[in-house]
Amino acid sequence: MKKINLLILDDREENIISLRALLEELDDLHIIAHTDPNEALKVCWHEDITIAMVDVQMPKMNGFEFVSLLKSNQKTNHIMVIMVTAISKEERYLLEGLRSGAIDYLYKPLNPEITRAKVRSFIHQVRLQEEIKQKNIALEVSGKELLLAKEEAEHARKSKEIFLANMSHEIRTPINGIMSVIHVLKTSPLSNEQLEWLGILDNASQSLLVIINDILDLSRIDSGKFKIEMEDFSLTKFIDNMDRMFKVKADHKDLHFIVEKEGDLPDNVVFDALRLQQIVTNFISNSLKFTEQGSITFNVKLLDIGPKGYLIRFTVTDTGIGILTDHLPKIFQPFEQGDGAITKRYGGTGLGLAIVKQLAELLDGEVGSKSDVGIGSSFYFEAWFQKSKTEQTQKPNEPYINFPKLDGVQILVAEDNDLNAFMLAHMLKTWNCEVDIVKDGQQALDAVLHKTYDLVLMDTHMPVMSGFDAIKAIKALDDLEKNSMPIITISASVLAHEQAAAYEVGARYVIVKPFDPVDLYSKISSVVETSATEN
Ligand code: ADP
Repeated sequence: MKKINLLILDDREENIISLRALLEELDDLHIIAHTDPNEALKVCWHEDITIAMVDVQMPKMNGFEFVSLLKSNQKTNHIMVIMVTAISKEERYLLEGLRSGAIDYLYKPLNPEITRAKVRSFIHQVRLQEEIKQKNIALEVSGKELLLAKEEAEHARKSKEIFLANMSHEIRTPINGIMSVIHVLKTSPLSNEQLEWLGILDNASQSLLVIINDILDLSRIDSGKFKIEMEDFSLTKFIDNMDRMFKVKADHKDLHFIVEKEGDLPDNVVFDALRLQQIVTNFISNSLKFTEQGSITFNVKLLDIGPKGYLIRFTVTDTGIGILTDHLPKIFQPFEQGDGAITKRYGGTGLGLAIVKQLAELLDGEVGSKSDVGIGSSFYFEAWFQKSKTEQTQKPNEPYINFPKLDGVQILVAEDNDLNAFMLAHMLKTWNCEVDIVKDGQQALDAVLHKTYDLVLMDTHMPVMSGFDAIKAIKALDDLEKNSMPIITISASVLAHEQAAAYEVGARYVIVKPFDPVDLYSKISSVVETSATEN
């Protein structure tokens, strides 16, 4: 350890000798001594002096003056000063010393024990201060590192989000094309074998969509951008839909699908229906995946009614392979699966239940599971559902070719992907719309300048000029008829900020790919109606 420099200032050489002898046994010290205060001051400026023992009565400059000089200089004001004095212990002297900046006093004749003890305690203090200083420096460094790491993490999170947005767009666009073709093919005459192939194609594209949606959901939940949207919906119909949808799938595996309703369940409730469906579908899909024989029971039970509405529990119980007790606590964590052998056999990403758990938290609900290996598993979700305020309006449930015609409605489709453009045009033409197709934002702007449309359907990501820029350019046109033309954007991105950006530049609606023909139809008809009433 580095020695501490101690200065002795005394006009009498013999005093210095005796003080040196007294402090000799303290090996932490390096002693420097002077009889002349001016020389001592120079030493203080140039050497790293930590403690000074200063005689009070000196001919050239008294001890108090010397200490005042030390304290008034930035380079020396940290030095700890002990006054060594023979003059009386009267308070006025004490005060004068303390005012000048001294910390302590020793009285002549010096008591060796007290002197050593005092200097030792000063050395200890100095060491402690040094330690605190070092720790502060380390703290400052780690604080800076932490800040840097935080910035890097934030940067990585943003890059991940941008990457996911692009990836979502790139993958959703072709899936949209595939699914639209499937929709159309289903309405054409097909042999049984072709229908079977179409079913396989349908399943594969749905699974692909589920995976990409899962990855996006998890990333949006992580970045706090996930929005819960409460709506009034029919719980009875929700349960019936689940029954219809999964009975067929269970039948394919020769499994019984049983739906049970317990308690006086309400017909309508207010909740995020989409997220409820996501949670329940996840449980049932897992049960279907991990059950080879027996049954899957979907139980919906009213547990309580209170000021918050209805407390409802949804439980899915199966007679499948079960989960080992050790693995059970891990399965709600991202990328965690039961065990390696199971993963190899059944596949999956391990994201489903992680999303379910985070969704449940966002919905102020609770999820849990029980399982016995070889006997089966049971998963539940429960939450408070608000009471319904309005009656339900039903969405049309018939094939899109039967929707009422939109005769002569002029629509411009701006879409760079040929397959998607073709499918959109095909659907629009089934509803008797007149369609022009362009492939980028610039062409869309040119088309709008030449012709006034009832509606523009604009893809957001296009070459040459993006959909956003094209909308901005159209909205900036002087011609009122042109700049008020309704525009619906069609985006493959499900990121809320991208959708918000579309509304900001002036889009009337945003349709997310792969689009649902019902949604497309209802938005087009509402826009066309609106402009009809506006004119
Ligand atoms: P994935 O099914 O994509 O692997 P999940 O998060 O949905 O991801 O499930 C995580 C793991 O939990 C599964 O890999 C499986 O080991 C286990 N698991 C979930 N549900 C069941 C079930 N009903 N029966 C047996 N194991 C299940």
